[in-house]
Amino acid sequence: MNLKTKIREIQDFPTKGISFKDITTLLKEKEAFVCVVDNIVEEFKTKNITKVLGIESRGFIFGGALAKELGAGFVPVRKKGKLPAETIAESYELEYGVDTIEMHKDALSSDDVVLIHDDLLATGGTANAVFNIVKKAGVKEVYFSFVCDLEFIQTPEKSNIYKLNPHILVK
Ligand code: 5GP
Repeated sequence: MNLKTKIREIQDFPTKGISFKDITTLLKEKEAFVCVVDNIVEEFKTKNITKVLGIESRGFIFGGALAKELGAGFVPVRKKGKLPAETIAESYELEYGVDTIEMHKDALSSDDVVLIHDDLLATGGTANAVFNIVKKAGVKEVYFSFVCDLEFIQTPEKSNIYKLNPHILVK
């Protein structure tokens, strides 16, 4: 299935000049939804993944399905102030300002094999920050999967993610 054709582009969203990749058009088609889940599961089914980390908010959508199919637990990584218990936090730069994401301190343990999942890789800032959080937590192994990569954006943070050999379905 050509998943690229299932993702709608919305011009000037959320701000002027941005061409936003809207995955809701992919999500609502059951064959496309299953295709994404099956593809990622096929890639990681032999890796003994113990925890899937979903990045707020669109990373939660496939993250839960992937955790179920891989026989793993699910861990939400959320924007600052949303998680109720003690967290590990990491800040990262945006075009204007900084953002902070958090994960519960007790979410991972040293014997975990982690799959970090998000819908889309743009600058890589978010994924890199999540990787730093996971490093702080200390786990056995880390893998990445993204539905989509905006290849025309290249940054040092994204180079870091590429070095970790992420699984990407749509480029
Ligand atoms: P980055 O930190 O790599 O610049 O941005 C990636 C994060 O922003 C992801 O969590 C992703 O959900 C969101 N994001 C940025 N641009 C887009 C886009 O065009 N479409 C979608 N679906 N998400 C985006």
